[in-house]
Amino acid sequence: MSKLLKDKQVSIIQVPFGLRAGRPGSEDGPESMLQAGLLRQIRRTEYELAGEYKVRSTPEVKEMGKHVANLVSQAALHSSLPLVIGGDHSVTIGVLAGLTSHYSNLGLIYFDAHAGLSTEETSPTGHVNGMSLAVALGKARLKLSELSDNAVSIKRENVVLIGVREIEPDERDLLLSEGLTVFTMHDIDRMGIKTIIEKALQIAGNGTDGIHISLDMDCLDPLEAPGVGMPVPGGLTYREAHFACELLAESDRISSIDVVEVNPLLDESRRTARLAIGLIASLLGKRIL
Ligand code: MG
Repeated sequence: MSKLLKDKQVSIIQVPFGLRAGRPGSEDGPESMLQAGLLRQIRRTEYELAGEYKVRSTPEVKEMGKHVANLVSQAALHSSLPLVIGGDHSVTIGVLAGLTSHYSNLGLIYFDAHAGLSTEETSPTGHVNGMSLAVALGKARLKLSELSDNAVSIKRENVVLIGVREIEPDERDLLLSEGLTVFTMHDIDRMGIKTIIEKALQIAGNGTDGIHISLDMDCLDPLEAPGVGMPVPGGLTYREAHFACELLAESDRISSIDVVEVNPLLDESRRTARLAIGLIASLLGKRIL
């Protein structure tokens, strides 16, 4: 457990926010994960529920981000692990604003089929849910400090992307110029998820006082997680994803989590929501035995 988290306490923060980027539905993600049994899953871990919060719906990214940042920093201040359930990936911007106003040096492990490195200038769509990482790094026009007073950008040397397999040319340029660590699906095939997670923990944990996990459900293969806004074939398997989360939990370094892009309108009988809450339980230390 991160040194700033004293007890095994978790605060659930629901963010029913979707930019309707291409497809509506991600705003219903939190409800779908709760319906699928999130609380029951959490009871199977060592964590106790410290509180449940819900961000009221707003069409504005900035307004949502400020609310999320406030709730996340409050949870962290009370030594409770913020578990944020979205919503689309723009939710992560608010999460990181809240966290960086609390943690002096935050590590970030970012699971996504996409890179989140578009900016207002380079984005083909203008949708902020494709810009989360660029904002986190201070490379977009929108800054974390606009959402929370003491928020700062994340240091690029403590950021790791995992599961990437669809990237725009401008994102690739930014990724290379920033020297970000990225483990694509090719790297996972080559090295295995265990080695990838060990390396990710070294990088995100090096000199940091907390590690945030941002889990975009589209990092999984659409065969496992069909209910996401922008599915890309060739993703993580069910067991690779669980094993990754189990290894992250074993490290005892995880200080906050967001799970985004669950889209019940595109899901098959809550399959993606069920997988998401299972992965949350694994991240919180649930084991098979
Ligand atoms: Mg994505």
